[in-house]
Amino acid sequence: MKYRSILLFGAPGAGKGTQGKILGVIPNFFHCACGDVFRNLRPESKLGKIFVEYSGRGQLVPDEPTIELWRDFIQNTTQIGRFHPETDTLVLDGIPRNVAQAKILRNTLNVVAVFYMKSSDEKKLIARIQRRAIKENRLDDANLSIIRDRLHVYENETKPVLKFYGRKLVHNINADQPPAKVLADILRFATKR
Ligand code: ADP
Repeated sequence: MKYRSILLFGAPGAGKGTQGKILGVIPNFFHCACGDVFRNLRPESKLGKIFVEYSGRGQLVPDEPTIELWRDFIQNTTQIGRFHPETDTLVLDGIPRNVAQAKILRNTLNVVAVFYMKSSDEKKLIARIQRRAIKENRLDDANLSIIRDRLHVYENETKPVLKFYGRKLVHNINADQPPAKVLADILRFATKR
């Protein structure tokens, strides 16, 4: 069985986490932010160390451990009854993050929509990321050169994922709007069955 999924897609700071959290409290949606799964690891664990190493440089964690961690998370949340694959739509945020991950997950995900949260203003993105760094104590958001590295990784590695899924699935969402408007735009499509 493939998981019915919608993807929240966009640059760091575009507001994927904000929207994902809201969608995740609506019955029949289950939000999974890959970055949060990583941040919940114990920093001294093997994978925790790998995460700190890569994210601290603004880079992606290698695909194999990433996918394994994600599969474990989905399995565990299913087992404890938080995620109900038969009835829930997965709201994925931060995964797949490159084309290789999209290919690995090809037989696992039934992607019904990709919400491309587009911000025209890089300065705004950077300001949001820096605000979040203080609030959430995030290493990878702490300095400007790491933020720039993360934006480059997004352009070079993550953005090609849009092409992988193709035009029919991708919905452009103006991420410069207030969060409630962004949510309204997402829901207009996400509630279609
Ligand atoms: P943002 O919300 O700013 O896009 P995330 O919280 O999603 O950031 O991710 C933070 C960091 O966690 C990434 O820079 C990366 O190092 C790691 N990470 C998260 N998801 C993935 C993934 N699917 N593949 C590889 N690395 C990931």
